[in-house]
Amino acid sequence: MRAISVKQPWAYLLCAGIKDIENRTWRLPEKMNGERVLIHASGGPLMPIAGHYGHLFDHPQYETLRVKMGLDFFNKELHTSAIIGSVVFTDCVINHPSAWAEKTEVLADESGLPYYGNPIYNWVSSYPILFDKPILNVKGRLSFWNYPNIGCGPDEEGVQTCNCQLAVDERFQVVALGYEYRCRYCGGKWYK
Ligand SMILES: [Zn+2]
Repeated sequence: MRAISVKQPWAYLLCAGIKDIENRTWRLPEKMNGERVLIHASGGPLMPIAGHYGHLFDHPQYETLRVKMGLDFFNKELHTSAIIGSVVFTDCVINHPSAWAEKTEVLADESGLPYYGNPIYNWVSSYPILFDKPILNVKGRLSFWNYPNIGCGPDEEGVQTCNCQLAVDERFQVVALGYEYRCRYCGGKWYK
């Protein structure tokens, strides 16, 4: 399954459904629009957010965190070098109204026509999943990359079925949806 590396605490906030925008200097590739993507938390060991990371958030972002997660968030230990969840990027715009969207300055050329100086693309993040057990000790890469141990493929009836190769306890991997079971990591069907 395709993955993208994101620094903490942004990786956690994406998967927890708090941060609804991923900011990049490049446009979301069309073929990745609507595809579920693994979120890999990059970087070295990170201390608790308390004190050290408060400065990362502006006031509207801080308020979102306080209301949605409570201030306990600032005492969390966040995994790095790990695949911690997945999201679906569903749009790519400039100057999205979200508090998490980095804004692009609109300039004017000599004839007064507006243009974007250095565009920051706001990728809209939807349908977030935070894994109960992250996949640890995974090295990140640039751009979109393939993580081969998570994925699904069609069975003989064409149903997308889990092909994950993970050393994870079944009770963390499998989720019951009505009468059927699904893999929390790849989204594929799971046969007991
Ligand atoms: Zn799976």
